[in-house]
Amino acid sequence: MGAGSHVTYHEPKLLKPLSRVPHTKPPFTVGQLKKAIPPHCFERSILSSFSYVVYDLSIALFLYYIATTYFHLLPHTFAFIVWPIYWILQGCILTGVWVIAHECGHHAFSKYQWLDDLVGLVLHTSLLVPYFSWKISHRRHHSNTGSLDRDEVFVPKPKSSVGWYSKYLNNPIGRGVTLLITLTLGWPLYLAFNVSGRPYDRFASHFHPHAPIYSDRERLLIYVSDAAVFAATYLLYHIATIKGMVWVVCVYGVPLLIVNGFLVTITYLQHTHFSLPHYDSKE
Ligand SMILES: [Zn+2]
Repeated sequence: MGAGSHVTYHEPKLLKPLSRVPHTKPPFTVGQLKKAIPPHCFERSILSSFSYVVYDLSIALFLYYIATTYFHLLPHTFAFIVWPIYWILQGCILTGVWVIAHECGHHAFSKYQWLDDLVGLVLHTSLLVPYFSWKISHRRHHSNTGSLDRDEVFVPKPKSSVGWYSKYLNNPIGRGVTLLITLTLGWPLYLAFNVSGRPYDRFASHFHPHAPIYSDRERLLIYVSDAAVFAATYLLYHIATIKGMVWVVCVYGVPLLIVNGFLVTITYLQHTHFSLPHYDSKE
């Protein structure tokens, strides 16, 4: 551990990749851990935070400009090469934008809560994420990670409640199809229908202000998030009436699918590795 701390920390022995990571109480508290980190690491600079936003949006705009200005000038067959390249690059850049909005949700963007929420709301809404709705459930996920009863997402099912159809999906084709659906539809299905989420006693959706995910004082923020996503969707519809649906899908839709795919991949790998311990309310 860092200088100034009285805690000695022993490097854990190299573990086999599939054996459980240590899950017993560590020999230090969260407070001690925080104290060992230099204080400047907790300072949030508005300037550097905004520099990430400007940096990512500049690249996104540059890619958009190239695609919409030059692609149609190329011979037709080139479209099959240049558009996929655009989708992948734009998907990567917009994933960065997504992550900045996630940081806003953790109040890590600046020391001003209102600024973090404003930037997060704008950035997440532009990627059709209900900002406050997800911020609230995501915070609860962080404080209950690995809990079979209280974690919000990627909650593993006990053997007793695994669906009858699961055995038919446990083959290369079934796993491929499951993976494809998870990567493309997983995120919207989770937001809209709580798929792979924590079991609730009634219908749970990130778009439903009266869903059991939220407390009474949080409901207004869900209305705000919904209104923002509705406005963004309406804007996309409006652009589609002018530019055409194919234009919107090529410029925005496919990159968004790639962002969602990245997001699911990152969180899937973080939360479903065999070595991760899970626990229930008894522990
Ligand atoms: Zn987080």
